[in-house]
Amino acid sequence: MQKPSKKSTSKKLIVANWKMNPLKGSEAKKMFLGISKIANNLKNVETVICPPLVYLESLGQLVENRSCVLGAQDAFWEHSGAYTGQVSPDMVFNTKARYVIVGHSERRAMGETDEMVNKKIKSILQFPLIPIVCVGENTRDEDGLYIKDLKIQIRRSLAGLTPFELSRVVIAYEPVWAIGAKAKGVCTPAECREIVQVIQQVAADLSESADHARRITILYGGSVDITNAEGFLENGSVQGLLIGRASLDPKAFTQILKIAEKASK
Ligand code: PEP
Repeated sequence: MQKPSKKSTSKKLIVANWKMNPLKGSEAKKMFLGISKIANNLKNVETVICPPLVYLESLGQLVENRSCVLGAQDAFWEHSGAYTGQVSPDMVFNTKARYVIVGHSERRAMGETDEMVNKKIKSILQFPLIPIVCVGENTRDEDGLYIKDLKIQIRRSLAGLTPFELSRVVIAYEPVWAIGAKAKGVCTPAECREIVQVIQQVAADLSESADHARRITILYGGSVDITNAEGFLENGSVQGLLIGRASLDPKAFTQILKIAEKASK
């Protein structure tokens, strides 16, 4: 078994979730090269591009260094066998990918449960791969009851991990109401900061160690663009960002990378 991949502690982690885009491999290549040209030269930022699975292998050949690496948008918990349409962490690792997004709200909306997310995380952690676990409430209520549900979601998703395994996980706080073109509201850095504390508290309970919990990398995701990236990085108590739409525009995305480079100094 190879050594587990280590997260960098001081660098900002900026993750691009391309979702089901672009339509052609040639376009994916162009986008990746445009981004990596800038990303490869940043000292204080680790960039992770998560393209559709079908492009991972070919984009892997374009990875030059550890400043700009690849991630998958999902992986199944079984290693191989009769699971039509699934891709295992083994296969993901055999491309040059080093991260895997798990439990994105768009997958949860298609039926993925906390238990399924938990199985996937455990399977991914058997490899030198880092799971980026998405958590977040669908809506907020004035009484703050959503926090109770969020804690349950985090606890179930991370159940049974050892403190060491927990310290290898990246958690992306993605309030569903603030994600995507149909976002119903805007999450502020102050609101994000409050939830980071909640995540750290749950992680401390799970690992029985506040120290281990503090080492967990937490990202914010939800309509991040060039206008608000700095606010989340400076005032959101997060170590990085998970970016959807803005990551499809190499110009805007590389501008965010430069903002992150500045914020990490
Ligand atoms: C996402 O879906 O993970 C996301 C953050 O999307 P967007 O940046 O488009 O809100």
